[in-house]
Amino acid sequence: MSKNIQSIRGMHDVLPSESFKWQYLESALFAQMKRYNYHEIRMPIVESTALFSRSIGEVTDIVEKEMYTFEDRNGDSLTLRPEGTASCVRAGVQSGILHNQLQRLWYMGPMFRHERPQKGRYRQFHQIGVETFGMANAEIDAELILMTAALWESLGLTGVRLEINSLGSNEARNNYKEILIAYFEKHKEQLDEDSQRRLYSNPLRILDTKNPDLKEVVDNAPKLSEYLDDESRIHFEKLKNILDRAGIDYVVNANLVRGLDYYCKTVFEWITDKLGAQGTICAGGRYDGLVQQLGGKDTPAAGYAIGLERLLSLLDEDGLIPDPETPDIYCVMLGEAAEIEGMVLADQLRKENADLIIISNCMGGSLKSQLKKADKSGAKVAVILGEDEISKSEVIIKYLRQKQEQQLVSVNELNTFLKNI
Ligand code: ATP
Ligand code: MG
Repeated sequence: MSKNIQSIRGMHDVLPSESFKWQYLESALFAQMKRYNYHEIRMPIVESTALFSRSIGEVTDIVEKEMYTFEDRNGDSLTLRPEGTASCVRAGVQSGILHNQLQRLWYMGPMFRHERPQKGRYRQFHQIGVETFGMANAEIDAELILMTAALWESLGLTGVRLEINSLGSNEARNNYKEILIAYFEKHKEQLDEDSQRRLYSNPLRILDTKNPDLKEVVDNAPKLSEYLDDESRIHFEKLKNILDRAGIDYVVNANLVRGLDYYCKTVFEWITDKLGAQGTICAGGRYDGLVQQLGGKDTPAAGYAIGLERLLSLLDEDGLIPDPETPDIYCVMLGEAAEIEGMVLADQLRKENADLIIISNCMGGSLKSQLKKADKSGAKVAVILGEDEISKSEVIIKYLRQKQEQQLVSVNELNTFLKNI
């Protein structure tokens, strides 16, 4: 016997016992996007490999070791998207919707990274991403942060903290890179293999290391904030002013550099301590150079992405997800004539009342066995139809969740009756 085929490691089914939680979260997210007038964009899941290597950066975790890259039948190198920003910019440039326009966009869907699977880290995971184009001021950075804060509040989440930092202009960051390289060169023997390799190509990433052995050397490194250009400094001050005024708590984390090359000026992360090491549930920032780098006109941009698995498990652990809706009616049908009439009646009821959730029995059986299924389904009432009831144009209503005598209701009055159960 051959072994059953299993799903791919780190890629999961969402079963019905979980999917209602996703739907709850998704509708909260959609509502939030609407209130801030952000519009959905849907991009393909597969893109040219060059899109990601060029935008995310060659010397990053994602491009160095996490991408699902394969050769198409015509020899082109394709990649399952590891994140959405690059695709969104590509789509925006290609369609022309970024040119001289203001855009507030969002997308949601699966992302793919070949990482070691563990809690909060999967090979197929899901993000909702938000990208804004054409706005260079700190206000839009603040809007992005305020809207995530409002989202946590609407979901009832507490205990997520905000870390922010400014990476400065590209020029300031390049100057700082030289200073950082000089510093780390002096402490080369303390660096791990990854950091030594990145020393010249991407020294900022060393600041972002998750290796605790590097904590001291990283903590003592010169701080980017001391080398910021004036424009970035003023931009960052304004952002902080808005956050202060709005009562949003934050800490400035000088080592927050984010793992992708395209960021400049503002970067931020929302972090929780409740999920262990995988504590970042939302990350974002400004990426003014990327649109031009991918062939568009010079366009300021800023955005963020929320890791939905992490957000969902946080909501779940805190008991913040409402129970799924239970069905209202289980339609019990006894005998062929009732089976035919019952199917038509159930359909009619659904048309007349869009809010009702109705299950039709669809599998014969005795009254007892049908009622057992009705009970198990969680329905509030069973609507019972037999030969007798059909001939009198009536149904029997049996209450399944409350102590109340069953009663006869005429088919004509059934819809009105069911509105009040
Ligand atoms: P991390 O530091 O945890 O690896 P990252 O910096 O690689 O995160 P981003 O590329 O900024 O993550 O993605 C934004 C968010 O997407 C993360 O904050 C996280 O919530 C989520 N995320 C990233 N990678 C994964 C993954 N492999 N599995 C589940 N969620 C993920
Ligand atoms: Mg990562």
